[in-house]
Amino acid sequence: MTYKSVNPYTNEIFQEYDFATPDAIEQPLQKTTQLAAEMLTQSYQAREEILTKISHLFSQERQPMAEIMTREMGKLLTESLGEVDLCIQILDYFALHGHEFMDDVTLKSNFGKSYYTKQALGPILMCEPWNFPLYQVIRVFAPNFVVGNPMILKHASNVPGSAEMAADIIRRSGAPEGSLINLFLNYEQVDEVIADYRIKAVALTGSARGGRSVAAAAGQNLKKSKMELGGNDAFIILDDVDKKELADVIPGARLYNAGQVCTSSKRFIVTEQNYDYLLELLEQGFKSVKMGDPLNPETTLAPLSSKRAKDKLQKQVDEALVAGAKLVYGNQPVDLDGQFFMPTILTDISKDNPIYDEELFGPVAQVYLVHSEEEAIALANDSTYGLGSVVFSSNPEHADEVARKIEAGMTFINSTWVSLPELPFGGINASGYGRELSALGQLAFINEHLITNHSVH
Ligand code: NAP
Repeated sequence: MTYKSVNPYTNEIFQEYDFATPDAIEQPLQKTTQLAAEMLTQSYQAREEILTKISHLFSQERQPMAEIMTREMGKLLTESLGEVDLCIQILDYFALHGHEFMDDVTLKSNFGKSYYTKQALGPILMCEPWNFPLYQVIRVFAPNFVVGNPMILKHASNVPGSAEMAADIIRRSGAPEGSLINLFLNYEQVDEVIADYRIKAVALTGSARGGRSVAAAAGQNLKKSKMELGGNDAFIILDDVDKKELADVIPGARLYNAGQVCTSSKRFIVTEQNYDYLLELLEQGFKSVKMGDPLNPETTLAPLSSKRAKDKLQKQVDEALVAGAKLVYGNQPVDLDGQFFMPTILTDISKDNPIYDEELFGPVAQVYLVHSEEEAIALANDSTYGLGSVVFSSNPEHADEVARKIEAGMTFINSTWVSLPELPFGGINASGYGRELSALGQLAFINEHLITNHSVH
């Protein structure tokens, strides 16, 4: 397997890249180490100015950047354009606020004058997924660049063009050489890079499978790590829901990015009171999608990212049906050459059904009927994952009360998932550990260096 750009709408292979040679890996390790030392003496302000330049380049190149993402992994062009805009928001946010998070922290102690200062760790490796080819890179890059951690990027093997584009724009912004170096690494090389003494930490966004492997390599080498993994997010509809608000977010909550979002709502949990209404809303929404060329603004449902992704989802749905799930809508072949999957609704999923505790990465809604709010919360929490969750209720106090009982990294009330630079993003359990974005994300890879002076009080 090499790095390949395959358009999932046409199935055309349009770019191919070989794996990095040993030399091509050694040089970046040297370069990032040298830069890490130089960055220690630079001001945060200088780096914030560079982030602003990168943001301007993203604005200028918005269209070609969006097009490469759409061609490589199939998402709708409108969604790709929105992704570039989100990158701009993140770059601007850390350009403005990054330095604020780096202030020393004073500590109260009878021992003496004490504080900790926040030091960069040094070169880090980031392994990123294909579902948001630019956003995933920028949400790690922007805060770590402010901190002063140079980065090596190992992107998903189906989005090499997006990886090259991100690295190229960062280079053209005037960022010091080595700020972000893209390498086409295979898994063995990823392990070698993690083991190298010059790499100080590793961030991975991806599946629980990928996370386990990379976290194990990090653990083996005692490197700090941060894992942003998959989810099986619950969408709880409380009896006091505002039906109009609910109608506004369905089917988008499941179909955005063709359902390939870690925080897509995957399990809809509802009592008898709104069960039929929800099924109706989902079915109407799913029926009205227009599949086709993702570059065409009239298309509303894109193909999945690859044949492999489609085959995996089909296998999961087939197994779910064999295990007794009921098909309410969908799961028919789509008469188009691309990797399309018909939006599908499943109900009657028992606890022993294989999909009960699996992530379905595509346009498949699982609907669960419960008989009380307590049952809804217990079901939401009955998962090995714990990434996001959604609660719909017209009563803010009630919604808060329920949200606080959910075991997940994030709960969105009366809205589908969002990702904003000022809000921490991440999960618990098999959804990973650590946070990205916000001050929490920026401080993931720092050395909290304690300095205490016994002679000064
Ligand atoms: P993936 O297969 O785990 O891959 C993620 C990245 O890790 C890719 O660059 C991949 O490279 C690399 N990788 C995977 N296994 C590896 C190993 N054993 N050694 C070294 N590198 C390895 O995930 P994906 O299919 O690209 O992405 C979809 C998943 O990401 C979903 O589960 C989704 O929920 C999750 N996700 C989570 C978040 C979050 O913030 N929590 C955000 C977006 C997506 P290759 O491409 O070469 O395999």
